[in-house]
Amino acid sequence: MKKIIVLILLAGVFLVSFKKYKVYAGDTELPLYNGNDLGVTYTNNNTRFKIWAPTATAVKLRLYDAGEGGTATRTLELTKAGQGTWTLTINENIKNEYYTFQTNIDGEWLQESPDIYAKAVGVNGRRGMVVDMSETNPSGWSQDKKPVLKNFNDIVLYELHLRDLSVSPNSGIKNKGKFLGLTELGTKNADGQRTGLDHIKELGVTHIHLLPSFDFSSVDETKDDGKYNWGYDPLNYNAPEGSYATNASDGRVRVREFKQMVETLHHNGLRVVLDVVYNHTSNIKDSHFNQFVPGYFYRHNPDGSYSNGTGCGNETASEKAMMRKFMIESVVYWAKEYHLDGFRFDLMGVHDIETMNAISDTLHKIDPTIFIYGEPWDAGASPLPASRRALKRNMQELNQVAAFSDDIRDAIRGPQVKAKGFVSGETGSRETIKFGIVGSTQHPQVNYTITRSKAPWAREPYQTINYASCHDDNCLYDRLKLANPEATQNQLVQMDKLANAIVFTSQGVPFIQAGEEFIRTKKGVANSYNKPDSINQLDWSLKTKYYNVFKYYQGLIALRKHHAAFRMPSTAMIQKHLQFFEVKAPGIVAYQLLDNANSDQWKNIVVVLNGGKEVTSVVLPKGKWTLVADENQVNEKGIRANVSGSVQIAPTAAYVLFQ
Ligand code: CA
Repeated sequence: MKKIIVLILLAGVFLVSFKKYKVYAGDTELPLYNGNDLGVTYTNNNTRFKIWAPTATAVKLRLYDAGEGGTATRTLELTKAGQGTWTLTINENIKNEYYTFQTNIDGEWLQESPDIYAKAVGVNGRRGMVVDMSETNPSGWSQDKKPVLKNFNDIVLYELHLRDLSVSPNSGIKNKGKFLGLTELGTKNADGQRTGLDHIKELGVTHIHLLPSFDFSSVDETKDDGKYNWGYDPLNYNAPEGSYATNASDGRVRVREFKQMVETLHHNGLRVVLDVVYNHTSNIKDSHFNQFVPGYFYRHNPDGSYSNGTGCGNETASEKAMMRKFMIESVVYWAKEYHLDGFRFDLMGVHDIETMNAISDTLHKIDPTIFIYGEPWDAGASPLPASRRALKRNMQELNQVAAFSDDIRDAIRGPQVKAKGFVSGETGSRETIKFGIVGSTQHPQVNYTITRSKAPWAREPYQTINYASCHDDNCLYDRLKLANPEATQNQLVQMDKLANAIVFTSQGVPFIQAGEEFIRTKKGVANSYNKPDSINQLDWSLKTKYYNVFKYYQGLIALRKHHAAFRMPSTAMIQKHLQFFEVKAPGIVAYQLLDNANSDQWKNIVVVLNGGKEVTSVVLPKGKWTLVADENQVNEKGIRANVSGSVQIAPTAAYVLFQ
């Protein structure tokens, strides 16, 4: 996630005008609650409300008929219940009523708000809703089955913004911009090419990684006016976003439609990852956290102001017991209630290592195949020492948690805008490409002193997410175009293909941003978080225009899925079976996967990556080889057999051969 500049400015204004609350340095000043029943517990006979608000002197609950407007039908008082909690039980069936809490702290009544655990909310997330969750299950939900996953290294991630997928007029999808848009089958563009879910299936990825789809604050859910946001401005962490539902006013609809989406994706062989953003809230003033224990859930600078390790005006304090508890309970809730298969932690480097490991341990007890990964960096100075945070340098302390490799990303495309990378002929990044090929693990043939990170950071290869671009910054094609103004369109397309040929043949877990497979462009806009659909939407006519690129990506993914040598599960196995071989040309990286690596049926595999702009002759290891990938195509049956001696590698291309 990139800095959301508008929010920073707003937060700055609020910091000046907003009352400064007590700074909690740790957990010794407040009683902590260790039960697991915070929030709303509904049954036919009664509903129990329970919140943690140890500094409050009074707490009110209001019930409403609707999610917005009107006056409260009832106003009730909660009573103190120990360990800082307040509770109230209503002994009647209040299903589908909306509610707010209001606390009195330091003699002041704070804003009405739903509890931080709210499972369902009214329009724009300002009131909670009492819901019988079993009634939100789509038919067949109890039989919902996740697609099989043997190994984290078998994963192929596809990063997608829900609205981008379907909103274009040429998507052929009816439920544009909605959860249900991702459930439609049989959709096509004007030329008859598959779009939407059918396209994703055709491509062959294993996991859809959804940009934030919990309730965020920036899009007004009362009107469908085309307002767009990535969603890195969290409001209600445990409820789905309303603008993605066909009806945002009934809090049950977004819950049901999110589940329908997951069920449909599972049924179609796809697992689902949610991008979670616990590192900051949309702002301070309207933060639900701050309506219950002002200041507690955040980190602060020594002068008492909110610290800003996220670049978004505030940062939460995962190291504090009740924030850690909230994060763990929130992901567990999504995993169980919505059957999710993975979580991508935004700015994971802001969270503490202990919390990330507790999350991993807890989730993996529920389902050992849940994939957990995040951005192993921050976006500003944090008061929590770097040694305690889930940063890239500390990845060896994390258990079954993976991280994005900015190493391979920057080596492939270039470290800054307008800087060239390996795919555009820059030769200085060659060793970091090798670093990426071995999945950021320890390998005897990588000279780490001249790589970007100077040392391997992954204990095992699954800890590395290899990628060339994501939603942040320019999308791949735009970035390549900025860095290579002299390149022809055909050269740019070849660079795009080579970039992900590197990703899909490397050890680790590959990741692409939706649309890279048909040369998506955002028209040069780098930070498109609030830009209109015209910038962000997937233009499905590009699939027709660049159908050969799509087929190339599809071929690479199939090659990876059919050949376990590209998916070795351990550092030791990579050390044993992956061997680089020397090629004099500086734009070339070449290696072999030897001796039926990871039980592959191919005995030996050669991968040659030519980032240079010249046709280059490469001497192959001994024996006869079959060429299965070149600059134009991937064909596992063989493009050319009986290749031996030296082979001419086209410029800006990846060649794969086997014996
Ligand atoms: Ca919302």
